[in-house]
Amino acid sequence: MKGTLYIVSTPIGNLEDITLRALNTLKEVDVIAAEDTRHSLKLLNYYDISKPLISYWGEKEKAKSEEVLERLRSGQSVALISDAGTPGISDPGSVLIKRALEEDMIVIPIPGPSALIAALSVSGLSTEEFTFIGFLPPKKSQRQKVLHDLSLEPRTLVFYEAPHRILETLIDMEKIFGERKAVVAREITKLHEEILRDSISETISHVEQSTIAGEYVIIVEGRTKVKQIITDDALAEVSSLMKKGLGRKEAVKKIAEAYGLSKKELYDKSLAGE
Ligand code: SAM
Repeated sequence: MKGTLYIVSTPIGNLEDITLRALNTLKEVDVIAAEDTRHSLKLLNYYDISKPLISYWGEKEKAKSEEVLERLRSGQSVALISDAGTPGISDPGSVLIKRALEEDMIVIPIPGPSALIAALSVSGLSTEEFTFIGFLPPKKSQRQKVLHDLSLEPRTLVFYEAPHRILETLIDMEKIFGERKAVVAREITKLHEEILRDSISETISHVEQSTIAGEYVIIVEGRTKVKQIITDDALAEVSSLMKKGLGRKEAVKKIAEAYGLSKKELYDKSLAGE
């Protein structure tokens, strides 16, 4: 009989954020596949769990999946864990899960922490509908393109960001989204936990002054039905289209649609700015 694959959520900082069922599963499986075995040993030692570990990490996901699948085919049960939170959520896991399902194996979730849900739950922004983006592309031009594509999205937007890119990402967001509410949740469940709830621009000032880095979830309110602020970026794009030969009316129509702005207001502002 084939073994079972358990997808086990582990803490995102505080080692005590783990369910009893997750601990029991980790104690009972034959082997634990971990994104970084050294990192996971900290958690396993804390709970006195001693199990054979195999490494299962992102860049080698395909090859590592085969190793795990072989164990499952031979009847062993495997728990997959990542460095933090829920495996497969901006973490390795999806390749293995897909392959296991293709072979009709049983895949069972052991739910628990995930940074996006923790941050969203205390954001104060609408949680009725949200879009999880995860990490934006590291390249500025690609990142800005994704943000442009999201600028009309009415649902709350949830992003992950690395500490060394938080500032440039927020600056791009201000440029493209304008003055919206944002929540930046840093180091959730850790010593330097901080939840900033402000406008994007105020958040930028705060992050600029902060001396503590850390892991961040950024949440931005979706495009509201109320009037959107016309950003310099939108005006610059109108001018750029006009330089390419488009009439003002046509250029305004295109950019107003792309940004979800009032055509009349954008037209008047672009005229006043000449
Ligand atoms: N699988 C994880 C989950 O379920 O949340 C996400 C892993 S992803 C590689 C790591 C990113 O998640 C970080 O760069 C950060 O954006 C976010 N993150 C993880 N732990 C966090 C924490 N304690 N506080 C804030 N953000 C966190």
